[in-house]
Amino acid sequence: MTTDVLNPSTGTVLTSVPSLDEGETDAAIERARRAFPAWRSMAPGDRARLLRRFAAVVDEHLEELADLEVRNAGHTIGNARWEAGNVRDVLNYYAGAPERLIGKQIPVAGGLDVTFHEPLGVVGIIVPWNFPMPIAGWGFAPALAAGNTVVLKPAELTPLTAIRLGELALEAAIPADVFQIVPGKGSVVGRRFVTHPAVRKVCFTGSTDVGKSIMAGCADQVKRVTLELGGKSANIVFADADLAKAAASAPSAVFDNAGQDCCARSRLLVQESVYDKFLSLLEPAVRAFRVQDPADPAAEMGPLISAAHRQTVASYVDGADVGFVGNAPEGAGWWFPPTVLLAHGPDDRHWREEVFGPVLSVLPFKDEEDAVRLANDTEYGLSGSLWTRDLGRALRVSRAVETGALSVNSHSSVRYWTPFGGMKQSGLGRELGPDALLGFTDVKNVFLAMGD
Ligand code: NAP
Ligand code: MG
Repeated sequence: MTTDVLNPSTGTVLTSVPSLDEGETDAAIERARRAFPAWRSMAPGDRARLLRRFAAVVDEHLEELADLEVRNAGHTIGNARWEAGNVRDVLNYYAGAPERLIGKQIPVAGGLDVTFHEPLGVVGIIVPWNFPMPIAGWGFAPALAAGNTVVLKPAELTPLTAIRLGELALEAAIPADVFQIVPGKGSVVGRRFVTHPAVRKVCFTGSTDVGKSIMAGCADQVKRVTLELGGKSANIVFADADLAKAAASAPSAVFDNAGQDCCARSRLLVQESVYDKFLSLLEPAVRAFRVQDPADPAAEMGPLISAAHRQTVASYVDGADVGFVGNAPEGAGWWFPPTVLLAHGPDDRHWREEVFGPVLSVLPFKDEEDAVRLANDTEYGLSGSLWTRDLGRALRVSRAVETGALSVNSHSSVRYWTPFGGMKQSGLGRELGPDALLGFTDVKNVFLAMGD
């Protein structure tokens, strides 16, 4: 079976790729299982060298990978270059790990006690369509570095860069079957990662509903799981903030990648004393946001991923109180303009649900306590920002907002050196940073008796 892959900027077919069935998925998992013993026992320095070579080969193909993502996912060329570079950087970062996977020596009576961080075996990585390259890399780089073999399922809509990364791994001399791309449907390939006993961990990024079903399925075999799910992150602007800077940066914090970002700051909370002033600063920034052919280096935003997704996004705007709307091209492709909606209270559907499109909801708040209460009034807890010049407030609010990542006077969420992941129903476990590696290992304790 094959699936057509479309260009979301034009709606035309780019190519078609295989869609594997259950038997073919089982065969890939079996090959990964067989490749595991040699990969885990390879000298740490050799494994590190291969991962660095993989990073170098990705770097040599950066433009090609970026161009594929522009055409397959509608990402702007600027973003797509960053994304391919992120795969290279994350590979290099975790290439340092095989030689530093250091256990403990624990003082005990009668002998020597040491711990090892053992790889798990085959790791199954399930990737969504919104950031096909980085999300793949955040899974496979630490998984491979820790000595696991990997089967990776790209989203059906966006398989092209993952398939190319699989080829580049072989070009970099990563041994056959250590890193395999398994394209196909979530309900077939993804589900099999959950039910196949040889897959010892599932790393999933996507919707909260599917994430819950994966967690429930993994329970059956006590399979390890990392979940990166949805978000409804707040951007909190206090009256004492640099309002011009906060307004200038608010559009890209939600409209980047056409809002198809689990970290999108899609709820804007503005202190009521500066609410009108802030909206008057925000409006020109939204209207000026450049939505155009994503291959044009000037583009700040491209189309949505699919016709069906555009319909879902539009359903949040129908009947809502529209503050103002930016521009988008007409005609072919799944275009949607940046849209600002005025929420009438925290029960509005567009305020509560993850839209995953270029739609920002705005609500005023009274004081610090009110801001924290409104920000936390959600089942999600992934990311967020706050703007203030008061250092004490910045610290208090940072500690009080229940999310895995926060930025003060900026909108940064993802830095590969630092942990990324959600609280509450936004996820389980952390990716990136120094700790992610241990999520792909189990601790083994060994006691060696001294004898007499
Ligand atoms: P999704 O259904 O959760 O898909 C994510 C990945 O999981 C895809 O590779 C998908 O395969 C796979 N999958 C689907 N059902 C599965 C199952 N039963 N078992 C195993 N794997 C399965 O997400 P979506 O439909 O693409 O998007 C829906 C909404 O989810 C979005 O509108 C957004 O709100 C949210 N979302 C969040 C993130 C995030 O970064 N946290 C990313 C994407 C979407 P297919 O290729 O068959 O789809
Ligand atoms: Mg789905």
